Amino acid sequence: MSNILIKNGKVVTLDRIFRGWLFVRGKKIVRMGAGEGPKSLKGDTIDAKGRFISPGFIDLHIHGAPEEISRRFAKSGTTSFLASIEAMELGKVKKILSGDYSRLDGAKVLGFHLEGQYINPRMSKAQDGRFARRPDIAELKRLIEISKGRVKIVAVSPEIKGALELIKTLKDKVLFSLGHTSALFEEAEIAINSGARYAGHIFNAFEPFHHRNPGPIGAILTDDRVYAEIILDLIHTHAAAFELLLKCKPLDKIILVTDNTQESKFKRKKALKSSLTMERAVAHAHVFGGLKIEDAVKLATINPARAIGIDRKKGSLKVGKDADIVIFDSKFRTKATIVEGKIVCAE
Ligand SMILES: [Zn+2]
Repeated sequence: MSNILIKNGKVVTLDRIFRGWLFVRGKKIVRMGAGEGPKSLKGDTIDAKGRFISPGFIDLHIHGAPEEISRRFAKSGTTSFLASIEAMELGKVKKILSGDYSRLDGAKVLGFHLEGQYINPRMSKAQDGRFARRPDIAELKRLIEISKGRVKIVAVSPEIKGALELIKTLKDKVLFSLGHTSALFEEAEIAINSGARYAGHIFNAFEPFHHRNPGPIGAILTDDRVYAEIILDLIHTHAAAFELLLKCKPLDKIILVTDNTQESKFKRKKALKSSLTMERAVAHAHVFGGLKIEDAVKLATINPARAIGIDRKKGSLKVGKDADIVIFDSKFRTKATIVEGKIVCAE
């Protein structure tokens, strides 16, 4: 079992940032504290050189082959992610869901985000609407089974036939996400009351807000039970749209995602592609959203961890939690990434 001492950094916790150190044994954080750190701690030492020592970023929405994502995105601070599956042939979906991704070199696969199976084909936008399917309870149960319980988020457009039944029946198994939708306010509200608690890339592929018909955006922004993810690349969303989200939603219900498609083979129109990284999303939340660094970090760490129920192990720096750690500088550039106690990249 290897030990790592990370010292001389600004440790980002849920409520404050302090000068201190962390000690990692095996996969876990076993000690942490302020100041220099006890001399008695032995192991590989990483000098953070006064930079931030933060929990690793959790990206709940990113497309492409898990192997490629794992390697590439650890370099920008992502330590775990949900492999997102867009609308595609069912056979391909099953193949991805049955894969073993437990031994990847970089960021860990936490499970899957089924983004395109049960959406309104007219609102498919960057996805291929031909492969959107009627919500089917038996089919989704089977997909969950094939994945060995690793399907975590399932997008569904509340206005399509069978959507509500799907949500009601399987809401305890997966997190249902409203998205790619032209639902009326009332339809979205019923879906939320039926158990949907998440919204995929709010504002994008949503019927726009109108004061006489507030639509799905109106329903999501006015209901604190629902998490909302946002692609904060300042292309998919304007900084003011993020500001609006911050004013409407409690901070613990906002989640930064990349929806990055650079590793995806599926062809999209250029305007719909995302090349966002989690480190940039956090930087934008701080710079353009005016959030304190520890708050901007929460949107990329503890909030996504809570949304999918893994916050006892991941999402913050705490003794006993997994050693998923990113060291970034004052410009949010990743300098080192540690995934479950293993240094996967370092300057
Ligand atoms: Zn989408």
